[in-house]
Amino acid sequence: MPNHRSPFQSTHEPLAPPSDPISEARSQAVTDLLKTIVEPILDNNIVSLGMVRNLRVVDDYVYLRLYVGKHQHALKPQIETVLSQLTWCKKVYVQICTISGVRTTLAISSGKGGVGKSTTSVNLAIALSLQGAKVGLLDADVYGPNIPQMLGLGHSQVNTIETETGTRFLPLEAHGIKVMSVGLLAEPDHPLAWRGPVLHKIITQFIQDVEWGDLDYLLIDLPPGTGDAQITIVQESPICGVLLVTTPQQVAIADVRRSIHMFRRVGIPVLGIIENMSYLRCGHCGEPTPIFGRGGGQQLAEELHASLLGQIPIDARICAGGDSGQPLTMADPNSRVGQVFLDIASALERTFCTVQDKPLVLN
Ligand code: ADP
Repeated sequence: MPNHRSPFQSTHEPLAPPSDPISEARSQAVTDLLKTIVEPILDNNIVSLGMVRNLRVVDDYVYLRLYVGKHQHALKPQIETVLSQLTWCKKVYVQICTISGVRTTLAISSGKGGVGKSTTSVNLAIALSLQGAKVGLLDADVYGPNIPQMLGLGHSQVNTIETETGTRFLPLEAHGIKVMSVGLLAEPDHPLAWRGPVLHKIITQFIQDVEWGDLDYLLIDLPPGTGDAQITIVQESPICGVLLVTTPQQVAIADVRRSIHMFRRVGIPVLGIIENMSYLRCGHCGEPTPIFGRGGGQQLAEELHASLLGQIPIDARICAGGDSGQPLTMADPNSRVGQVFLDIASALERTFCTVQDKPLVLN
């Protein structure tokens, strides 16, 4: 990542609330040993990376969930070997939680609606794809699922297939990106009226039951804010990190601050902040005007020790591209907007090393 300290250096609260002094001491011993296991590409330990969740010590048994990509399953035997040092431990149960075929899962979030989260998701997906990655985009924004429209898919029909593990949704495809959206399950022009447990079930199903095939990156466009829906998605999926979108405005910044605390509390690394609508460049003299204020993203990044990954200008072609299903990064990768997204995609690729030996496909 381009600046500040690595997003993977953050520390988290204990993995599980201790129940009694013996369990507490044992949980701590387990956590300390798990912290000696380093994921080689990301160069940090699996606890700080948020891969270990739901750690429980019950009597002489250890239970934990390991949230990883398809290339990281070898961490399971490593965990079993390392924890075999615990003389009291009779057995370690590691449940691997992964999305079939997916290597790196990233979430795009924002503190509030309308700041350009979906625009960012779509353009970042295009930028990663232009750099040679196989990309999927899951639109989980139950309050405004407009990714299909932004990619020109409108209200396309979602098909399912029967597999050995049950019925699975087939993603649609646009501009080489695989797409699934909660909006595709709703009737045209009707709001999604799901609430509470139904909402959780649908989102979890989306995460588990889409037949993505082989993907280098799966981007999940989260609903805005820090409610139940976000927490469910984040906890139920092997998200490696989250990108937060904000405008420079102080009210938007305050919401992002809350989001960052929420993600850190549940142990998901915050990869950085993307500031959208940072300025408007004058069509005549080229002078940038900070319509929504100046420096908010930078200030927040410094305060919360997160990276400011990019500043996206206001550009009428973003709006037009969103409406016509032709994202600007695809229509004009050499535009300022396109360049910012390509830079962010490069920074992600440097961090996750997902695409190897693939040519840069720029026109
Ligand atoms: P969110 O997902 O946060 O609700 P959207 O991505 O749907 O926000 O963006 C809201 C509106 O703002 C859309 O009409 C979009 O085209 C427009 N928009 C977003 N970013 C920009 C930008 N940098 N310049 C111009 N219009 C933008």
